[in-house]
Amino acid sequence: MKPFPRAEISRQALQHNLARLRQIAPHSQVMAVVKANGYGHGLLNVAHCVANYQGGADGFGLARFEEALELRAGGITGRLLLLEGFFRASDLPLIVEHDIETVIHHESQLDMLEQTSLKKPLKVWLKIDSGMHRLGFSIEQFSGIYQRLMACPYVAKPINLMTHFACADEPDNDLTQTQINAFEALTVNLGGERTLANSAGTLFWPQSQADWIRPGIALYGVSPVVGDKGTNHQLIPAMELVSNLIAVRAHKAGDSVGYGAYWQAKQDTLLGVVAIGYGDGYPRNAPEGTPVWLNGRRVPIVGRVSMDMLTVDLGINATDKVGDSVQLWGQALAVEEVAEHIGTIAYELVTKLTPRVTVELL
Ligand code: PLP
Repeated sequence: MKPFPRAEISRQALQHNLARLRQIAPHSQVMAVVKANGYGHGLLNVAHCVANYQGGADGFGLARFEEALELRAGGITGRLLLLEGFFRASDLPLIVEHDIETVIHHESQLDMLEQTSLKKPLKVWLKIDSGMHRLGFSIEQFSGIYQRLMACPYVAKPINLMTHFACADEPDNDLTQTQINAFEALTVNLGGERTLANSAGTLFWPQSQADWIRPGIALYGVSPVVGDKGTNHQLIPAMELVSNLIAVRAHKAGDSVGYGAYWQAKQDTLLGVVAIGYGDGYPRNAPEGTPVWLNGRRVPIVGRVSMDMLTVDLGINATDKVGDSVQLWGQALAVEEVAEHIGTIAYELVTKLTPRVTVELL
């Protein structure tokens, strides 16, 4: 029997999603965002799946320097971009040695670059705050910062340019077009490569696709929009989170189950105990009624999710057996649907799995 719980990752789905994104953004290169352990799908698993073949990703987006080093150590040779930039001047020699590119979003990074001496110039992406107000230089700061970077001998030219959207997952929100316009106005004549679009930009704002798109969640087959599904965009969920039934118990009307004893059965029923809990990253706050997929149907969680287990109401006529496979989310039960029940977003569910979950590439 395979270890459980398991996150089974479909190579075919990842490659399909990449091809689909290329179809949606035919004039853009694709920077596959694989930060946070490939959104929980396994950093190297995902990178190897979508790299080094015709039509494969053109580059990878990462949050941390260590993630980029792991990709290089794992044999990934494509372009790598640190989306949050670098934080320590002492990392710069290794960054250039491994041909890693970095976002510049703060003056402290410029100060470090002006004081450094490197074996070769650093490839940078200047981040413009076009309206998200999290990272990046304001429109007013831009020209001065750009000149400083141009004057820096250890900065490769031309300088690449980027911005990030705050609300691209809301197709009716005007802020995205305002951000696109502000970015365009500043960068149109500067040369260098340009990128604006995350998954939502790529799917809903085609005018933002530019030289590079930076899809994360869509690459994994998941929609960035609450209430939507990746399958609505011909994407295929790449992760199937599965575990097993480890007990089936007769349960009497009025009996409670689990910590807090707060759920009580209204009628006699059979309860199934599934080997997954918050120690695996399945949220403890999943409310009663959150579905799992078992033997071709949805069954509801009842009682409190505990560290290693959760309980489901199978119904009095159930024929499910110990050892049966349970899908927490995947192709039969969309992670977006589970996230809505729990009051979170699919991004959080897939990235929060703990190391106890075996990640298996199929
Ligand atoms: N670009 C940047 C700068 C990001 O921070 C992220 C993720 O947060 C992405 C792209 C990918 O976003 P998404 O997963 O919504 O496609």
